[in-house]
Amino acid sequence: MKVCKFGGSSLANAEQIRKVCDIVLSDPERRIMVVSAPGKRSREDIKVTDLLISLANARISGYDGLTELSAVVRRFADIAEELELGNDIVSEIEQDLTRRIAADPSYTMKFMDSLKAAGEDNCAKLVANYLQSIGKHAQYFDPKTSGMILTEEFGNAQVLEESYTQLALLKDYQGIVVYPGFFGYTKAGEVATFSRGGSDITGSILAAAVEARVYENWTDVDSVYAVNPNLISNPHAISEITYDEMRELAYAGFTVLHEEALTPAYRKGIPVNIRNTNNPPARGTMIVKSRVNFDSIVTGIAGAKGFCTLNMSKYLMNREVGFALKVLQILADEYMPFEHMPSGIDSLTIVLRQDVFTPEKEKRVVRRLVDEIGIEKISVDRNLAIVMIVGEAMAHTVGVTARAANSLSKAGVNLEIINQGASEISVMFGVREEYCNYAVKELYKEFFQR
Ligand code: ASP
Repeated sequence: MKVCKFGGSSLANAEQIRKVCDIVLSDPERRIMVVSAPGKRSREDIKVTDLLISLANARISGYDGLTELSAVVRRFADIAEELELGNDIVSEIEQDLTRRIAADPSYTMKFMDSLKAAGEDNCAKLVANYLQSIGKHAQYFDPKTSGMILTEEFGNAQVLEESYTQLALLKDYQGIVVYPGFFGYTKAGEVATFSRGGSDITGSILAAAVEARVYENWTDVDSVYAVNPNLISNPHAISEITYDEMRELAYAGFTVLHEEALTPAYRKGIPVNIRNTNNPPARGTMIVKSRVNFDSIVTGIAGAKGFCTLNMSKYLMNREVGFALKVLQILADEYMPFEHMPSGIDSLTIVLRQDVFTPEKEKRVVRRLVDEIGIEKISVDRNLAIVMIVGEAMAHTVGVTARAANSLSKAGVNLEIINQGASEISVMFGVREEYCNYAVKELYKEFFQR
């Protein structure tokens, strides 16, 4: 059986919803469909989830939210009308939203999640209604009764292990399961959402629960590309990529799939197939556990801005047992995750995301490092980007880092950091932010256009 997840652009209007249903109906193996909330119909349009966030904010700020409410209802009503579904489904959606906004908005996070979830929840009801209206055996499944149980981290929830056993029962349903993405329920029965873009996670969880043969993730691109298509026109399309490679590229800015979405599929070894709703014959990109065929040494190149380094040195640092532990403890006290930690004999650099290292935190951390562990020299370097080349084939090829560094040096890009992980499937370069895109383009030329 296949689990198919459809993103917001695949459900933005009636025409897209028809396409999505045709895709599902064209293959009897496609038995579970996970839907996002309707996305943008054009560049300037607003996603339903964002409309719902505005509605929640209006209520939290003490307004009645009626204007915002009618904008959401309008979106669903337009789709329902074009799909010739009649008015009942629209009234049902309006009642559902009215009930949600009547809750106490002072529990901000819970209130917000209940509203954010309404986009996917009502979209799933609408799609199931459409499939039934054209005579298909399909049903909406409620995450509450079907067992999608999540932690209480509202807005950033995680699935609880116990969900899997009950969710596995979905495979017994003989028709098409229409399942809303993005949210589940806490043990106390409250709505909790994953982080933004989280319908990908729902799809992966269901695929793992029913042990699907493949998890199809339908979006609006033909495949994952070796580089951001906004930087290079017609870039190399990746036909196969491993979970590990994908994870590294997602980390450095590939946004095709939610960063957390691979884990459930990965643990069960279920291949993930990225497909295009607007071009179903294209076979897309297959994300797999391991691969043996490589058509290039480097699989992908990515760059992400917004990093900074905390550089420190102390004479005889290498002899001091537990030194790094003390540094990391100070970061942990500030609740600051670190990204990389390149080191020398007497020096240590911590690479951090700039948004977590606020100037106030910087002041406190620097003072503690000096006072408590006697750091002699310390500096912070902001506005850095990381640029990564990723590829399983790199581990067996000599000279890839040299080639990359050489091409960047010829292009006049100064390297602030070089870091290679133990798996040898990626090399990371730290450059100044203004060089980020340029460096990515130069590396692409080196590895794909020579
Ligand atoms: N609708 C949600 C969002 O916009 C989740 C999703 O589309 O995956 O973040």
